[in-house]
Amino acid sequence: MYLILGAGISGVCTAFYLSQLDPESEIVVVDSEGCVAGCASGKAGGFLARDWPRSQLSRKSFDLHAELASTLEGPTKWLYRRVDTYSANLVDDTQADDKSSNSTLDWIHAATKPSKIGSTTNTAQVHPRLFCEALFARSKASLLHASVCDLVASDGVATGVTVRDNDGQMRTINASHVVVALGPWCDYLVREKWGIPIREVGGQIGHSIVFQSDSQHPIPAHCLFTEMNKMEGPEVYPRSDGSIYMCGGGSSLGDESSIDDLLPASPALVKPSERAISKLMQLSDSLFGSNRMKDTVVKQACFLPVSEKGALIGRIAGFSNLYIGTGNAVWGILNGPATGLALAELILYGESRCVGLSRYNPMEK
Ligand SMILES: Cc1cc2nc3c(=O)[nH]c(=O)nc-3n(C[C@H](O)[C@H](O)[C@H](O)COP(=O)(O)OP(=O)(O)OC[C@H]3O[C@@H](n4cnc5c(N)ncnc54)[C@H](O)[C@@H]3O)c2cc1C
Repeated sequence: MYLILGAGISGVCTAFYLSQLDPESEIVVVDSEGCVAGCASGKAGGFLARDWPRSQLSRKSFDLHAELASTLEGPTKWLYRRVDTYSANLVDDTQADDKSSNSTLDWIHAATKPSKIGSTTNTAQVHPRLFCEALFARSKASLLHASVCDLVASDGVATGVTVRDNDGQMRTINASHVVVALGPWCDYLVREKWGIPIREVGGQIGHSIVFQSDSQHPIPAHCLFTEMNKMEGPEVYPRSDGSIYMCGGGSSLGDESSIDDLLPASPALVKPSERAISKLMQLSDSLFGSNRMKDTVVKQACFLPVSEKGALIGRIAGFSNLYIGTGNAVWGILNGPATGLALAELILYGESRCVGLSRYNPMEK
């Protein structure tokens, strides 16, 4: 039985590709939130760019997203679509003259000097939670609502983990292979608790809101990156269901906190800061006007997994059957499919055939 720890996009994509390559297999995914994509993988923007991270992993993953969308009804099931992508300056009312010059981005107020930075050939978007839910359902894996505690292993073979069930009971889950996909919490469990010297993984907070736009004004398939006063401004991703996702804003939102400073011991303790959310709400008001911004359906925060030398994808040294996939930072939704396929191939064939993994070696040198 394949045991996957963490039901974020890394764990879900690993489960999905294991089920594709080994259809008779039994797969169990454990997550302390009791749902799929309860953390960053359900709260991300879902923007995909084929060439921005400039890695074989990202290009392969962008292509896998396209393939999955065309074979599994992605446009309806997880709102996959190709987008034109722009950058623009956001101005305040004192620069009103500038505003009138913007006709490309006429769906948003206060954006000037738009510049096209991506097109439908190389940028796309998904609704990340719907994507994870759809792939998880296809994998036929079962989800166990429990918190992972200790690794059970002997002579370099992982035989399972102990978990604390939702009702507080401890039990052991046995497995033939164990994949750790716990996002930023990999560090706490694998390095600190289990004492295995993988590279350090930290958590970086990001806030976002999602609201419903006025359906009288359909918004084109655009994604927008902004600057305000020469600093990073919010990212704005309208979706094909009429909702608008907004995140970021960098230091103006208080999202600049240093890595790991704020990562709580458990995912259930992650809470958005009121200051960051109210700043995003103010920005959305000035960008869309209160009459175009109907209900704010979601106000949220999450921690993305970061590691100084990039993602950790591979087998954990010292164990024949213990693997890890984490650290995809701001590109975890983009890189999810290739991360999952590479891990599934590594488990089944002893090597990743879709992408080279040497630069993702999880171990400290
Ligand atoms: C605001 C924001 C916007 C983003 N936008 C984009 C974007 O547009 N495009 C893009 O490509 N990426 C984006 N990202 C990055 C992306 O969200 C992450 O890189 C990705 O979701 C990480 O996925 P993961 O599966 O590795 O980790 P996670 O999604 O964090 O999953 C880890 C899982 O492990 C579980 N877990 C943790 N500890 C335990 C335990 N002890 N026991 C059991 N379960 C446990 C958690 O509940 C969680 O479900 C964004 C991130 C943020 C913060």
